[in-house]
Amino acid sequence: MENELSSEKKLKIGKIVVDRNLCIGAASCIAVAPGVFELDSENKAVVYNDKGADDETILLAAKSCPTQAILVFDEEGNQIYP
Ligand code: SF4
Repeated sequence: MENELSSEKKLKIGKIVVDRNLCIGAASCIAVAPGVFELDSENKAVVYNDKGADDETILLAAKSCPTQAILVFDEEGNQIYP
């Protein structure tokens, strides 16, 4: 558990992508990271500021998504989540 936490702390998020086909507008990502995500006019989450929260918060937001619609990549383009 401790190892898991410390490895997450070292994360460097490079890119956040919302899969619009998966997003159901549940808005849990916005509850967790309101500085990063917002709902657009179609009730789909969009990233309006990818620096609007720290990396751990962004990852928590991705994990909070019930449909795993939020894809998180590191700075080298490797997919971190899901
Ligand atoms: S938590 Fe997932 S389903 Fe809900 S708005 Fe965010 S991306 Fe869409």
